[in-house]
Amino acid sequence: MIIARRNTEIREIVKSKKSNGNSVSLVPTMGALHEGHLSLINLAKANSQFVICYIFVNPTQFNNPSDLEKYPRTLETDIELLKDIDCDCLFAPDLDCIYPDNFDCEVLPSKTLSAPMEGLHRPGHFAGVCTVLAKFFNIVDPDFAVFGEKDFQQLRIVEQMVKDLNFPTQIIRAPLIREESGLALSSRNQRLNPSDRKLAAQIYFALESSKQLFLEGETEVKKLVNQVQTVLAQSPDFELEYVEITDENLVAQTDAKAGNRIFIAAWLSGIRLIDNLKL
Ligand code: AMP
Repeated sequence: MIIARRNTEIREIVKSKKSNGNSVSLVPTMGALHEGHLSLINLAKANSQFVICYIFVNPTQFNNPSDLEKYPRTLETDIELLKDIDCDCLFAPDLDCIYPDNFDCEVLPSKTLSAPMEGLHRPGHFAGVCTVLAKFFNIVDPDFAVFGEKDFQQLRIVEQMVKDLNFPTQIIRAPLIREESGLALSSRNQRLNPSDRKLAAQIYFALESSKQLFLEGETEVKKLVNQVQTVLAQSPDFELEYVEITDENLVAQTDAKAGNRIFIAAWLSGIRLIDNLKL
């Protein structure tokens, strides 16, 4: 596997691959890789001839300094995992390659798509995401970029950014991958102790039980949301931040329809977890 650390290096690599007729995919990550990330890389491999995974813990998308500080960084293990699945290239630039001292620009997200949920509860988060992705898209110039439905709001915002700002990159959606318990895989799960990790699977159970109610004919969003709240209220350790049901454009619904998604953000022992499920 090629490991590139500088912008000029990755540009040269991509230029040479493209000139040989290879299509190039980019899989953006913040590292601490797990099976969810690896599924994105496998999807990229199925769609293109040369796959680049980038690992960059982007400070501008953290609205909470302690979350940034505690974010797991496991580069050596990540490199082994990437080699094991035959990823072609890792791009792992240092902070100053992406944010030099005089860096002073910002790419703002779609106003509509970034208004609810993560955008509301994490001010500035999506501007940080759009800024760093615009930079990586310009540095790498990939034909494809793969994003997970785990962060569905982010995925929709990236799709809109690419369309509105004419990036010549096609966005590929990857399904959300769960542990056997149902817990959505996340780098932040590493920070959960074993008993909290077990408890965290209740988030999925709560979403599933709401979906079950919907499948039995209940469409009133208030009742479906209440079902999630009731399940999670059984454990005092959860602190709910939001539960919402929206359509594909992230518009909150009052009457749920098939294809809508139910979204949740909840705190457990100081760790913020998000999940979503298609109805
Ligand atoms: P992150 O490293 O958390 O920034 O995530 C990098 C990419 O991996 C994003 O596109 C995420 O949506 C995706 N991802 C993270 N966890 C999962 C998961 N459990 N299933 C599918 N994709 C995921």
